[in-house]
Amino acid sequence: MRVPYYGVALILSGASGTGKSTVCEKLRAERPNIRFSVSCTTRKPRGEEVDGVHYYFLTEAAFKAKLEAGEFLEYAEVHDHFYGTLKSEVLQYVEQGEDVLLDIDVQGAQKIRETAQTSLILDSCVVSAFIAPPSFEELERRLRGRGTDSEATIQRRLSNAQTELQQWKAYDYLFVNEDSQVCSTQLLELLDTLHHGSKRIKEPAFL
Ligand code: 5GP
Repeated sequence: MRVPYYGVALILSGASGTGKSTVCEKLRAERPNIRFSVSCTTRKPRGEEVDGVHYYFLTEAAFKAKLEAGEFLEYAEVHDHFYGTLKSEVLQYVEQGEDVLLDIDVQGAQKIRETAQTSLILDSCVVSAFIAPPSFEELERRLRGRGTDSEATIQRRLSNAQTELQQWKAYDYLFVNEDSQVCSTQLLELLDTLHHGSKRIKEPAFL
């Protein structure tokens, strides 16, 4: 018998350089049926990033128009650019029982937790996990190893990381990313366990 349930909206946060994007890629490769919430951003594409796949790259005016139209579930200013999660990337899917991954920063995660207090669907679906680097030194090494950011950008990201890393306690789960394959396997195990969460069942009287 198939239990009528909401999908999991799994929020993943962690400072730049924690390896979160690699973990997300591995998760998606292993479970192609997990949806990835494509965020809007006003920052420019980096490296191989593709519009509509990694982000919707918008001008500031286009971002503000979406904001005014109430299209965002949350938005935040991160590293001097705007980032936002579209409602249309999340709500309809979790309602249909599909899992959605949200790679968002600590401010966005906090806003979604607040919204969840007054939204039955979000309250049932949202689970947050914080991905931490093994150490601050390792985080700096990874940030420099990317080779795509200027020294000023790296310094800003390091300083933001110090503040962001303190937020791990606000999350439901903590994962230390020493090895992205191990970390993504652990996250998949978490998702499988969450599928049995009774608060995600749409009809409490299904039996
Ligand atoms: P990056 O520019 O390195 O891709 O992302 C910078 C930060 O913005 C990361 O911490 C990432 O999780 C966060 N981010 C990406 N999309 C969103 C979003 O839609 N909302 C919020 N609040 N943060 C986001």
